[in-house]
Amino acid sequence: MTPNTTYFNPIHRDQIVMKQPQIAIIGAGIGGLACARALSMMGITAQIFEQAPKFARIGAGIQMGPNATRVLEGLGLGEDLAQTSFEPRTNLNRVWDTGEVSNEYPLLGHVREKYGTPFYSLHRGDLHEALARSVNAEQIHLGKKLNKIEQHPAQDKVHLSFTDGSSLEVDAVIGADGVHSLVRETLLGPEAPRFTGRIAYRTTYPAKLLKGVDIGESRTKWWGPDRHIVIYYVTKQKDEIYFVTSQPEDANWTTPESWSAKGDLQTLREAYKGFHPDVQAVLAACPDVHKWALFERSPLPTWCEGRVLMMGDACHAMTPYMAQGAAMALEDSVVLARCLDAFKEDDLSKTFKLFEHIRKPRTSQIQLASSANQWMQKATNPDWVYGYNAWEVPLVPNSES
Ligand SMILES: Cc1cc2nc3c(=O)[nH]c(=O)nc-3n(C[C@H](O)[C@H](O)[C@H](O)COP(=O)(O)OP(=O)(O)OC[C@H]3O[C@@H](n4cnc5c(N)ncnc54)[C@H](O)[C@@H]3O)c2cc1C
Repeated sequence: MTPNTTYFNPIHRDQIVMKQPQIAIIGAGIGGLACARALSMMGITAQIFEQAPKFARIGAGIQMGPNATRVLEGLGLGEDLAQTSFEPRTNLNRVWDTGEVSNEYPLLGHVREKYGTPFYSLHRGDLHEALARSVNAEQIHLGKKLNKIEQHPAQDKVHLSFTDGSSLEVDAVIGADGVHSLVRETLLGPEAPRFTGRIAYRTTYPAKLLKGVDIGESRTKWWGPDRHIVIYYVTKQKDEIYFVTSQPEDANWTTPESWSAKGDLQTLREAYKGFHPDVQAVLAACPDVHKWALFERSPLPTWCEGRVLMMGDACHAMTPYMAQGAAMALEDSVVLARCLDAFKEDDLSKTFKLFEHIRKPRTSQIQLASSANQWMQKATNPDWVYGYNAWEVPLVPNSES
């Protein structure tokens, strides 16, 4: 059975009417959008269901290493992102108080030459917008919060219900619904992601508020004994900066992850009081800040069951310390689309299992390395992370899986 030859079955009057889609993607985050784009390049039109009623521009930056920009360029977003993204000069690592450099890895020029694609720092909203633009608007269904999935193995169908009362049947479901994934809970049972005991403060703000303080052209991480802060530009024009911290927090703090939860500026400034004056200047100029609990998951026993599969944070959420979470979701998208294209004639559940076997060793390795929070602190060879080519990796089970 090829994915293009099946149709959705009518269920009731509230049914979402779709002409030819066979695959439903849950979640229009970075992974879900990239997956829809990659599938469309293979001739497969998936439909995306997103709980949010509209897309919001979240005040956050994101680093895209060359393994991620390789995916984005292949998806056709290269020119779009080149208009908005900043290319940091180096990955600069400094001691929190003295400012001594513990490691400086060249990015601008070097990364393009060595890996064939750039290293970008950019506004998360610009990345999300570029991905959303790359997908046909009719494929994106906003305000659709999934609340139930049922598989009917005998009929080769999956039944989806949404909180607005609508429902539909599809041939397969890709759960790109993030760290609190309902798809994951349905497949593996309830289990909250592990609170790391740490929180991140983060914000973007106009660089002019720095009033001449120079943050340099690197992506700079200031390493303290039990906390750190990362600072970089998120626009090509260097008119907006971003910082993100990580520091211990009361283990009983239970606020769920939310990109919109506010933090207290005074508490933040207190927490970084002994840091280098350059850090203090960035915090002093900051008008507003958000607070985010850091969660992670251990590698999961499985990513799929029958015709339901997870990708991205839904199945391999990690700490942000290597800046690789979204990169992994992007890599997943391309490898999954290639699998679905290459094995059209196969049973979808077999193809999903193959995808898991190809991807899990890599994402598990990065989850564990990220958790250690040592990436680039000292001289580091990033080949194993940056050299991965999702467009060319062999579609055979990885021997380590
Ligand atoms: C502070 C911080 C900094 C980071 N920095 C970087 C970085 O520099 N580089 C990097 O590569 N990664 C970074 N990451 C990681 C990155 O943000 C995530 O790995 C990435 O967003 C995962 O993408 P995703 O599509 O799997 O999930 P998400 O982006 O979380 O998207 C999930 C989507 O699913 C939707 N959804 C959820 N439940 C439902 C439902 N029931 N029905 C319908 N829709 C639903 C959500 O609304 C959301 O739109 C960072 C993370 C944090 C916390």
